[in-house]
Amino acid sequence: MKAVVLLSGGLDSTTTLALAKREGFDLFALTFDYGQRHRIELDKAQYIAKHFGASDHQIVKIDLRQFGGSALTDSIDVPTHRDEQEMASEIPVTYVPARNTIFLSFCLAYAEVKGANDIFIGVNAVDYSGYPDCRPEFIRAFETLANLATKAGVEGKSRLKIHTPLIQLTKAEIIQKGLELGVDFGMTHSCYNPIEGGISCGVCDSCQLRLKGFQQAGVDDPIKYKIP
Ligand code: ZN
Repeated sequence: MKAVVLLSGGLDSTTTLALAKREGFDLFALTFDYGQRHRIELDKAQYIAKHFGASDHQIVKIDLRQFGGSALTDSIDVPTHRDEQEMASEIPVTYVPARNTIFLSFCLAYAEVKGANDIFIGVNAVDYSGYPDCRPEFIRAFETLANLATKAGVEGKSRLKIHTPLIQLTKAEIIQKGLELGVDFGMTHSCYNPIEGGISCGVCDSCQLRLKGFQQAGVDDPIKYKIP
């Protein structure tokens, strides 16, 4: 049983990879070098894929900087020191236009080539979740599209399934699940705006949600922060 797993090098995708492994899937990891400002996650993803014994790990280079339009791909400042209310008030500038649609399209092509019927993506619709392409209705719609779009789907030999095991979990619950699966979160990276050496800023939305998750889970975050 082969599964394509979208792996960013973050806490959520690493836990998703660990879950797919526990379910007995042969892992095919897919990572994007899309022009993101924090390239450290690519090194992390490489290490993580190897650590979990992925049969294959592809790093696909696409340049979303060509369009820009996000704090992660353009010269727009990453917001910091926001409270939860501010994070939840609107879709943040760290939203990358159509990113998950683009990523899942590549997953679909990779899955069809490898003969995988399962795709895992660590999207989450609980924590602030202003992102439209992290919602269950988006995933369901993409799954329908996937089965209409591929030779495998049309020939009816197999049905493609998109797994979102974290979609309804809080960050603290994801951390607990990861720890149960033996994930070393020291391997992962979440910061939107790390300083040199890959040290996390501690004040961007992603750092704040991660730190709060560890606090609620009652465990220490093993990674280094500039501002804890
Ligand atoms: Zn940060």
